[in-house]
Amino acid sequence: MQLTDRINRIQISPTAAVISAAEQLKSKGVDIADFGPGEPDFPTPEHIKKAAIKAIEENRSKYTPTGGIMPLREAIAAWHKRELGSDYSAKECVVTVGGKHSIFNSISVLIQNGDEVILPAPYWVSYPDIIKYAGGTPVIIQTSPQTGFVPKASDIEKAITPKTKMVIIDSPSNPTGGVVDPEEFERILAVCNKHGIWLMGDECYSHFVYEPHNSFSIASAKNSKPSVIIVGSVSKTFAMTGWRIGYTLAPEALIQAMTKVQSQCTSNPTSVAQYAALEAMRGSMDSVPVMLAEYTKRRKRIVEGLRAIPGVTCEWPGGAFYAFPNISAHLGDGENACARTCTDLARLLLEKAQVAVVPGEAFGAPGFLRLSYATSVERIDEGLRRLGKFFSRAEAAA
Ligand code: PLP
Repeated sequence: MQLTDRINRIQISPTAAVISAAEQLKSKGVDIADFGPGEPDFPTPEHIKKAAIKAIEENRSKYTPTGGIMPLREAIAAWHKRELGSDYSAKECVVTVGGKHSIFNSISVLIQNGDEVILPAPYWVSYPDIIKYAGGTPVIIQTSPQTGFVPKASDIEKAITPKTKMVIIDSPSNPTGGVVDPEEFERILAVCNKHGIWLMGDECYSHFVYEPHNSFSIASAKNSKPSVIIVGSVSKTFAMTGWRIGYTLAPEALIQAMTKVQSQCTSNPTSVAQYAALEAMRGSMDSVPVMLAEYTKRRKRIVEGLRAIPGVTCEWPGGAFYAFPNISAHLGDGENACARTCTDLARLLLEKAQVAVVPGEAFGAPGFLRLSYATSVERIDEGLRRLGKFFSRAEAAA
């Protein structure tokens, strides 16, 4: 079949591939310790579900304005101001079909052939492919575990060329949990302003940060309005991944361009889901600290458990719900190695130990694995037990 060059430039999301391999085994009755999915295991809070049910009963099941119902755009701007200190109006907000859709649409209206986008690695899997689909080139800068996987303004500046159009920062980061401190983030903004390039702040995990960090948005900084694009979502903060509601906050002209793309593509995000998101934005946020407290417990369990496995090192994630251990001591051609690459190791772990993890190659970080701890403490303990057994057997066999 003759497909476009555009589609041939990208691959199916590697995290989706892992999740589907684990699902296949589960459907055959295999008990998998599943560290794959990047989604909260908590249910959507009751008051949000009730708002959606009410919307259905009131027949709010028609097309809405493409960019979202006005009360929701207003509520997102007000929520973001209250929670994260920005200053946007409804005209500077578009509601999208999830945060990923916001990233896709904003990149598709700003990036074209020959443009470069700077991405700190390890990066979220979808950024490079979305950039490539738009015709751009991802320019990767490395971060290291020693500095908490946080990009430095000076490294970003060194990577800027006349072709650079945008820098993308997700803080907290998927997959590393790295959190950029406000001072460094402002230095990155200053670099972007100096060179006249966009700074995208992906805030999908904004409310899941661990001490000593606090939630922070670069949109709260002075001089941020003209160059900053904020991407957010109700997926993680409100345990609403399946509802598919995200948003972009950005200069009005960009919002209008994104709305134009949306008008020729998805049209409005699902009407009923918008009413659920409206309740999330306006209603009680009591469920958020409850989830954060649970993630805090799980984070301790998983990081300490991983560190107890010989040859494995693991930093404390500053936010989100992923542990990102370095397992390179177990890789390679040497006699102590269990596999050549992380991808091979992830496959072995699934087949031999019934543990699902995402290999670091998916994030531009060979030598690492991503383990989501959005799963119960019991399942974390079971997974750690299986991992411990797998690596000790591999050592004994070597
Ligand atoms: N950005 C990051 C860093 C993510 O990890 C995800 C989801 O995993 C998204 C954006 C998109 O989330 P959604 O499309 O569910 O809002």
